[in-house]
Amino acid sequence: PVPPPLLTVEGLQAWYGRAHILDGVALSVGRGEVVALMGRNGAGKTTTLKAVMGLAQRRAAVLRFDGRDLAALPAHRIARLGIGYVPEDRRIFADLTVEENLEVGRQPPRPGAPAWTPDKLYELFPNLKEMRGRRGTRMSGGEQQMLTLARTLMGNPSLLLLDEPSEGLAPLIVRQMAEAVRRLKAEGLSVLLSEQSLSFAAAVADRACVIETGRLRWTGAMADLLADRQVRTAYLAV
Ligand code: ATP
Repeated sequence: PVPPPLLTVEGLQAWYGRAHILDGVALSVGRGEVVALMGRNGAGKTTTLKAVMGLAQRRAAVLRFDGRDLAALPAHRIARLGIGYVPEDRRIFADLTVEENLEVGRQPPRPGAPAWTPDKLYELFPNLKEMRGRRGTRMSGGEQQMLTLARTLMGNPSLLLLDEPSEGLAPLIVRQMAEAVRRLKAEGLSVLLSEQSLSFAAAVADRACVIETGRLRWTGAMADLLADRQVRTAYLAV
């Protein structure tokens, strides 16, 4: 039998105050799978990630992670179940060094799973190793983005929610970020990432979900999205 997905979302609705933003978003992320949530500016990608995490007002027909219903749980409880959220704006402690930032994120590992350590993370992000003693104020935007991801991994999540990981990064850093996501997948992590860049999504994702004005428009294998010119021109920035 096929194991159930790690994350299942059906009929997701979300609001900011009275503004109804998401209307019926559905997606799933299997264990060890990388899924790209795609769509233009304002389509509702960030809101979808926030709604899963409990950071936006939401309701869903199904919102299950690892056999647990997330509907009634606040964000900090959801984080403790093993979902790591990396927002688009970097959230590092600028006055702390790289290594201190990593220590701030440390949480006990999940039963039976290996724990991330700063040394293991330096293998994944070699440039963080070189600047382990440097303070956040002296890092570039891309380096801060990597540190935010690395610090989230110190919490030993089984699912990562990455909001636009390639946004605003120099091409070299984008390639390093894609390589990091591929290695995380190889380690068995599951990833749901929001992305506008088709090339980044193509480099890392197994499947894609395309949303527009808060509704799911298309879902399928990444290779099929690349082959489907019509869907790409209709819903994605080209
Ligand atoms: P982007 O690539 O610009 O981040 P996105 O697909 O992530 O786009 P969202 O940030 O989820 O889109 O925004 C979806 C809609 O919700 C947009 O119309 C946006 O204007 C609106 N919105 C976002 N944040 C708020 C908020 N705090 N209050 C009210 N409306 C909001």
